[in-house]
Amino acid sequence: MRILVTGGAGFIGSEYIRQRLTSDPTARITVLDKLTYSGVEANLAPIADHPGYRFVRGDICDHDAVDHVMAGQDAVVHFAAESHVDRSIEGAGPFVRTNVMGTQVLLDAAARHRVGRFVHVSTDEVYGSISEGSWTEDCPTAPNSPYSASKAGSDLLALAYHRTHGLDVVVTRCSNNYGPYQFPEKLIPLFITNLLDGKAVALYGDGRNVRDWVHVSDHCRGIDLVLHGGRAGEIYHIGGGTELSNHKLTGLLLDAVGADWERVVYVEDRKGHDLRYSLDDSKIRERLGYAPQTDFVEGLAATIAWYREHRSWWEPLKARVEPR
Ligand code: NAD
Repeated sequence: MRILVTGGAGFIGSEYIRQRLTSDPTARITVLDKLTYSGVEANLAPIADHPGYRFVRGDICDHDAVDHVMAGQDAVVHFAAESHVDRSIEGAGPFVRTNVMGTQVLLDAAARHRVGRFVHVSTDEVYGSISEGSWTEDCPTAPNSPYSASKAGSDLLALAYHRTHGLDVVVTRCSNNYGPYQFPEKLIPLFITNLLDGKAVALYGDGRNVRDWVHVSDHCRGIDLVLHGGRAGEIYHIGGGTELSNHKLTGLLLDAVGADWERVVYVEDRKGHDLRYSLDDSKIRERLGYAPQTDFVEGLAATIAWYREHRSWWEPLKARVEPR
């Protein structure tokens, strides 16, 4: 199967590619990535010599570039996005451009080239916030941040291309990911790297916000199950089964690096901060046999060890962006 992977130099896309190409010598993957501040081509160095791997630097909003790489593909796995909520609050323009308009350019090209399957990778954040219980796939979207609104818009477009044009689209919605190669502006790698440097960490509000955490390798296994076994026009949740408040998570990180609560600074809450996300992922578990394999405590310890051992990866990235 020839697969076009967009955003393959980012955190989750690169894990997906490393996983696929390491386990399948016959796989053929073309990456289309603009290499924005969060795209790191070196994330793909471990598989760069695989004969089925090709990297193309380009923008998913560029019709000609997309048309060129789409020709001959059997499937698309679409990760490329502006992905950081805080940045979307500072300025929503790039989020609408890449997440909504870029997705539309890809969908048009996939329909034109009669691509057999289009996996649109999305997030639980499109549902807004839930105080009790968990969302199922038929819950209405109610996004609260410009990031989640742009993702919800792209989800609706993807599903519309299935209904209108008959494009074989499947949408995945996943909870918060953690693991190696995550850009050090997101909570877990930001806190780990600050703590390793002896710096403070900033906790929003009172730290009560609850997120479900899934290891990035489990997310990617779920995406692959949906790529091969999902039903066209349907949505699949991919969860981790570990709900934690940010306060509790901070405590785990402090313990793991031997730091105490004096390193924590409480800062004004994020605007529109969703209180709780929770996915019901029984559909993918029952129909496609998904189950997360990484225990959270073990996965977090391995992630901390990875950041300890890979300063040369994250130090230049932190220097590249404004501290936040
Ligand atoms: P990331 O920011 O690490 O990677 C995004 C990648 O997309 C980068 O390589 C970047 O260069 C590329 N990109 C951005 N704009 C582009 C454009 N216009 N054209 C081509 N490439 C472009 O993000 P991530 O955390 O790996 O997230 C990947 C996807 O998974 C996103 O769609 C995100 O919404 C979704 N998702 C993320 C999480 C999470 O916890 N990180 C959870 C659920 C879903």
